[in-house]
Amino acid sequence: MSTDEIYDLVIVGGGPGGCTAGIYAQRAVMKAVLVEKGLHGGQLTLTEEVENYPGFMKIPGFELAQKMADHAASLGLETISGEVTAVEAGDAYHTVKLDNDEVLKAYAVILATGGASRKLNIPGEDQNYGKGVSYCAVCDGMFFKDQTVAVIGGGDTAVEEAIYLSKIAGKVYLIHRRDEFRAGRLLQKRVMENPKIEILWNTIPKAIMASIGGVEKVVLEDTKTAEQRNLPVNGVFIFIGYNPNNQVVPKEVKLNDEGYVLTDTKCETNIPGIFAIGDLIEKFSRQIVTATGDGCNAALGAALYVDNKKAEEEEKS
Ligand code: NAP
Repeated sequence: MSTDEIYDLVIVGGGPGGCTAGIYAQRAVMKAVLVEKGLHGGQLTLTEEVENYPGFMKIPGFELAQKMADHAASLGLETISGEVTAVEAGDAYHTVKLDNDEVLKAYAVILATGGASRKLNIPGEDQNYGKGVSYCAVCDGMFFKDQTVAVIGGGDTAVEEAIYLSKIAGKVYLIHRRDEFRAGRLLQKRVMENPKIEILWNTIPKAIMASIGGVEKVVLEDTKTAEQRNLPVNGVFIFIGYNPNNQVVPKEVKLNDEGYVLTDTKCETNIPGIFAIGDLIEKFSRQIVTATGDGCNAALGAALYVDNKKAEEEEKS
């Protein structure tokens, strides 16, 4: 289904960046629509507490996400619930295809599709997903009350989630491949002071073993000595970063070697009128606050682009 109507802007993804873009687009009086396949908020909805978003000293991720979505809706932002299957770049306008065969036309598109958890790709990981292997502590932590779990990774997410899990599990092993964390200093201090968390440095998981009752152990290897050992655990939580969700990025858009979209200071890609924001793009820090900043830049950039595009068309006619 396709209509002749051309939107000023289609926003793909309703996380913090997408919602902010929606707020700024409404304030710029653009004819905009936001397409979101699941819940508004993206990865933010999986975060237990957010403590670094200015103005909120401590707020559940789900609540902050809802506030952002409500804010955009209060300004009249149209939202479509559906999955985008393709975005195609065009000269007169761009097209956004949905899984229900609907086709949206827009002068500008903001891609805000975020990222997805990276996998270890070790034996037992896929087979035991949902049966002891998890990528979300808030979703699955309660299944491991007073049990023993392993957390894999050394970034902010792994450390934060290890601390979260320590409030539920009896014992948490935090397993990191190097001898220093990538995570911020405050989180490092908290994790090191936590009596329920034992850090295993220079260690990588090689396999996850399970029986009919679920995960039983993880096979670990010492990166210095190559020595292997079995660690009995009931659950394995994997937080080793994520990959950008770039599946619907038009093929003409330039990506870096890791698949992140390259943008300018307006968050515009090399294709005029196609913008990208948040965890999808190459940048220094991936934070809620930087995603919202991207959303602002992209929406203001898109408003300028659309004004110029319409003025050009008027001159031609
Ligand atoms: P990340 O910063 O990329 O960290 C990934 C961690 O996993 C690293 O410690 C990495 O080890 C390890 N790792 C990667 N591949 C591995 C493998 N195959 N086997 C074992 N370990 C592996 O990812 P993240 O922690 O998800 O954070 C993503 C972004 O979100 C970051 O910019 C982070 O600052 C931000 N974030 C911020 C907060 C907050 O401020 N509250 C919370 C969550 C996330 P190496 O260190 O050796 O590379």
